[in-house]
Amino acid sequence: PRTTLVTGSASGIGAATAHAVRAAGHTVIGLDRDGADIRADLATPNGRLAALGELAGTRLDAVIACAGLRAPTPDTVSVNYFGVVDLLTGLRPLLLDSPAPRVAVISSVASILAVDDAIVSACRDGDEPRARREASAVRVNPDGRPMVYASSKAALAAWVRRTAPTHGWGGSGILLNAVAPGTIATPMMSDLTGSPELLEDWLRRLPNTADRLGQPEEIAALLTWLTGVENSMLTGQVIFADLGTEAMLRGDTL
Ligand code: NAD
Repeated sequence: PRTTLVTGSASGIGAATAHAVRAAGHTVIGLDRDGADIRADLATPNGRLAALGELAGTRLDAVIACAGLRAPTPDTVSVNYFGVVDLLTGLRPLLLDSPAPRVAVISSVASILAVDDAIVSACRDGDEPRARREASAVRVNPDGRPMVYASSKAALAAWVRRTAPTHGWGGSGILLNAVAPGTIATPMMSDLTGSPELLEDWLRRLPNTADRLGQPEEIAALLTWLTGVENSMLTGQVIFADLGTEAMLRGDTL
């Protein structure tokens, strides 16, 4: 059996993933703010350090980083980008003894919508205070929607693409990928799932194949495969599990 750390394990996709990985016969260490083996706040550098301290000396085979926030606040950039990248950077040494080390993170189909370049570049520079300042400005896209969440998820997808092939990761045999879900029925989307009118309006704007929300178990199955030994060579990818939304938004551009 393998040992897999799942962040955001107390709810939604993370909870479904912890369940799926356990059902496949592996050991899961859950991490969340509450209701998990390791309780830590990934919004702060100190919280991440505390989590790393609790994990010191643990041999890991896989990490699945599901913890995330959606509100247009600075904490969303901290959790969705720095809470993933800083944590994984600290966890990398714990993966090196595994015969098949694997990491998966969660981006979003929102990552291909309009993003706030100031937030994305602060993330790329590893400058969390600047990223938080830019996020607090809450600039909006042409539809009037805040770009904080999309920017954090675009920055994370870019991090996966530039990190997976580098010596420290690919050179160590660690396969690193992102899953970019469409809209999934979890507590994060309770505004939609709690309102038939909002849900109908939301689905009307999605492609024909998206006549429903995705279920967390559907994303969990993909994450389980990506971080298992069955995945022998797929790395550096952002995989859209979204009932065709990304294909529709991109059209026939390559
Ligand atoms: P959720 O709200 O059900 O679960 C998120 C979990 O992250 C919660 O258990 C929460 O406690 C944890 N978390 C949040 N902030 C944290 C912090 N500071 N420290 C530690 N843990 C923290 O949402 P979900 O839909 O299961 O989301 C899982 C991931 O999937 C997120 O990264 C989200 O952005 C992403 N995602 C979700 C959807 C969707 O439609 N639900 C779509 C695309 C991407």
